[in-house]
Amino acid sequence: MIDLHSHSIFSDGDLIPAELAQRAFAAGYQAIAITDHADHSNFDFIIPRLIKVCLKITEKGNITALPGIELTHVDPRDIAALARESRKMGAKIIVVHGETLVEPVPAGTNLSALKADIDILAHPGLITEKEAKMAAARGVYLEITTRKGHSFSNGHVAKIAAKVKAKLVLDNDAHSPADFVGKEMATKIALGAGLTAKEITVMFNNAKNLVQRALA
Ligand SMILES: [Zn+2]
Ligand SMILES: [Zn+2]
Repeated sequence: MIDLHSHSIFSDGDLIPAELAQRAFAAGYQAIAITDHADHSNFDFIIPRLIKVCLKITEKGNITALPGIELTHVDPRDIAALARESRKMGAKIIVVHGETLVEPVPAGTNLSALKADIDILAHPGLITEKEAKMAAARGVYLEITTRKGHSFSNGHVAKIAAKVKAKLVLDNDAHSPADFVGKEMATKIALGAGLTAKEITVMFNNAKNLVQRALA
């Protein structure tokens, strides 16, 4: 099991990165990305610190921890530049906080994110077919989430991704230990979104491939 979208005390998570990773390991996870919420005020504070601690965690050998960032409520016109700067600074997994149904995320965020150098468009809400096609063409993964609220549109995301052959990744968006729901519950939530067993296997493999891409 892998979660490429999680939060530590560097944004609104409950735990410092070392405990977050240890909790994930104890819950049976092989890899996580720590992707704290960021805008222009804090991305350059978070990334170097996550790089430092993720290196320490990973070298112990229990779990792979990737330093990432979740660009959140950033003006759509600024997403591409901030993603570029985050990448340059060493973020291995770049997530954009997409147009979830449960927050007033600026309209145009999904589209701008898909034009940028990012890895995952998180909780993309009522993503359009045109946007999903763009994700497929650009190798950006669309997120199926186990997180309350954000998960309202999982069924829509699953359906549209299948239609245009966009790649999916399942994330926990973990903010506290209980959010690492494990493979069994994650599978049930994915089935609830209408994915087939085969599609779910592919989705879990996509997370592995993303880890490989990030480590390359
Ligand atoms: Zn988010
Ligand atoms: Zn998040």
